Amino acid sequence: MSVGRVAAPAHFDAAVLGGGPAGIAAAVTLRRAGLRVTLLERAPLHTPRVGESLSPEVRPLLEQLGAWDAVRAFVEGAPEFTLVRSAWGAAELLERPSVLHPLGAGWHVDRVAVDSALTAWCRDQGVEVRTGDGRWFARSPDAARSIEVGARGGASLRVGSVVDATGRGATGTSAVRSVPWLAHDRQVALLGLFEGSGSTPAGPGLVLEAHPQGFWYTAPLSEDRLVAVFVTDADLLPSLGQGPAVRFRRALGDASHTRARLAGRHLAGKVQGFRSESGRLPVAAGPGWRAVGDAAMSTDPLGGMGVTRGLTSGLAVLATPSAAAAEVFSDYLDQRTRVYWQEPRWPRSAFWARRRPCAPRTDETLDWRSVAVELPPDAVLRWRGPAEPAAEAWLSPAALAALEALGEAAAQTCVRAVNEAAPMSARRVVVALQWLLAAGIMEERA
Ligand SMILES: Cc1cc2nc3c(=O)[nH]c(=O)nc-3n(C[C@H](O)[C@H](O)[C@H](O)COP(=O)(O)OP(=O)(O)OC[C@H]3O[C@@H](n4cnc5c(N)ncnc54)[C@H](O)[C@@H]3O)c2cc1C
Repeated sequence: MSVGRVAAPAHFDAAVLGGGPAGIAAAVTLRRAGLRVTLLERAPLHTPRVGESLSPEVRPLLEQLGAWDAVRAFVEGAPEFTLVRSAWGAAELLERPSVLHPLGAGWHVDRVAVDSALTAWCRDQGVEVRTGDGRWFARSPDAARSIEVGARGGASLRVGSVVDATGRGATGTSAVRSVPWLAHDRQVALLGLFEGSGSTPAGPGLVLEAHPQGFWYTAPLSEDRLVAVFVTDADLLPSLGQGPAVRFRRALGDASHTRARLAGRHLAGKVQGFRSESGRLPVAAGPGWRAVGDAAMSTDPLGGMGVTRGLTSGLAVLATPSAAAAEVFSDYLDQRTRVYWQEPRWPRSAFWARRRPCAPRTDETLDWRSVAVELPPDAVLRWRGPAEPAAEAWLSPAALAALEALGEAAAQTCVRAVNEAAPMSARRVVVALQWLLAAGIMEERA
């Protein structure tokens, strides 16, 4: 049955692709339900990871999973996440209750240590774990109702079902599902790990600093280690030079608080790039597969809730996915708008314009729930383009591309086209169309 380098048992009931928090929670939950499970993580365990600031909800979730004792030393021994100092909306650094989490206290952990401990524990629970074989992909199911799972290196095996826990993009199951991953933006992150005692003490908590082309955050991992992350949009990176290290350094030029916190510390290892977009699968399960964690829905790192959501989603792997996913994502986008709206300093910057929807004439926030719907369904709309960055505050690049491809069509056809490309509530789409008309990106045919 199995070919390649995969060892016995030859058949697994389920393969979980991706060994982050969601994949581990899903694998152990399935194992406890009596299934033979393999967890296939592409990277060696020591590979750098993002997501070091854990909210306090992580503990009860790990307790529910039964994994708290396995990771407790790495979590409780880590610096406490008690406050956020942020230059967000103004140049000065202000101590705030928390932009990240209203409850405040959590931990800034070394994710490599925590995820490694979780992986070892997962193995102890009877899950067959493989790491470091590169990316695994599910291939089309056969008549015997099994799915082939293969790695780039040549290994393959047949399993009853696949859980995609590969994070943003849900790349593990793209060949076995009919729905595409919907990226709502093009956000990326550059991460550098800094070591040394520094010119001044790093101080506690997370420092968040808005930047003309994104934002920075730094967090302490121990007395002499800090993680620094620059978040921006992928298409804005070339303006910062060539290569991650140059871009990272150049972006620091406009981030005085971050620079001060890193002063006297040295970069340990390479600057690493990560996907950071908000996005989702419009349908998170299908015949023989389902997605959990970021693979089902990913949000802005600003929220600091990715690990919590990943664990929750992995623990619920046996439950039917929520039918309200589009609504949840829509609510999340509204929350995100409220956070980005607090930073008005760079209205012309593409990064900020894409995240701060505003009425083009009045320069006021639009609340799509209260804006009057005035567009008749049979009004004929024409795409004029080019889409200015602010258009993406309302509609994803995929939805805007669908409107552009449509060229000219009735408003109701436009709504349908947007919903096929990136489902959203009809009201939200109509308000977005009204805004595109007001901005001159679309026009109404007389
Ligand atoms: C810049 C940044 C900062 C963040 N900061 C925080 C934070 O402070 N706190 C927080 O809670 N969350 C944070 N997050 C979010 C958090 O990292 C994720 O939401 C969380 O880890 C989700 O877990 P997951 O298991 O779904 O995905 P991931 O943790 O991304 O795990 C996916 C795993 O799948 C593996 N993989 C990918 N493709 C394949 C494949 N084809 N085959 C096999 N394996 C594969 C990857 O190597 C990875 O280990 C941050 C995210 C970013 C981008």
